[in-house]
Amino acid sequence: MADTLTVGDHDAFLVVDIQNDFCPGGNLAVPHGDEIVPVVNNLMRKFTHVVLTQDWHPHGHLSFASSHRGKKHFETIEASYGTQILWPDHCVQETVGAAFHADLHIPRSALVLRKGHRREIDSYSAFYENDRKTRTGLTEYLRDRGIARIFIAGLAFDFCVRYSGEDARREDFDVIVIEDACRSIDVEGSAAATRDQFASLGIPRVFSRDVTAEGVPR
Ligand SMILES: [Zn+2]
Repeated sequence: MADTLTVGDHDAFLVVDIQNDFCPGGNLAVPHGDEIVPVVNNLMRKFTHVVLTQDWHPHGHLSFASSHRGKKHFETIEASYGTQILWPDHCVQETVGAAFHADLHIPRSALVLRKGHRREIDSYSAFYENDRKTRTGLTEYLRDRGIARIFIAGLAFDFCVRYSGEDARREDFDVIVIEDACRSIDVEGSAAATRDQFASLGIPRVFSRDVTAEGVPR
């Protein structure tokens, strides 16, 4: 199995939402979210193609509980595109909370894809906004670079990593999730549901130590 996890020119590393608000002390902290930063830094050295996503909301975003009178954090609303969980205000554009974790190394070659920038629609996935129809352009970007397989890690495992993984599969990429480089929010069993969903889609979950690249030490 180890051979299949050797990284090459047709592989990309998608690093999801490693931002201050999703780390301890942030407005929507994922427990132990900051622990993945050194793991992800080490992994990024193995890839020529790295894409980082950055949740990037305007004030008053539809996904914020504070935008809906009487609603509490983690309650839901029916948006025009389906059920939307309501979050604490997080990753507001140009705030410290929206910035990448200070210890995250960003390769010079990396693409930074901002998502959730429209007030009326959320975007968990790096490929589609939450209507599951509006494309971000990431598929075409990766295809233009000859990418066939995508390794995914980041925050949170059971939301933005999950949706990005599902959509990458739907877009016909091979997908591998590096689970020790992810952490979960775990709302009502969402982490277990994510593992089940990945299994049903044939998306393997691996350890970072098993991902290798020629000429790069583990
Ligand atoms: Zn968000």
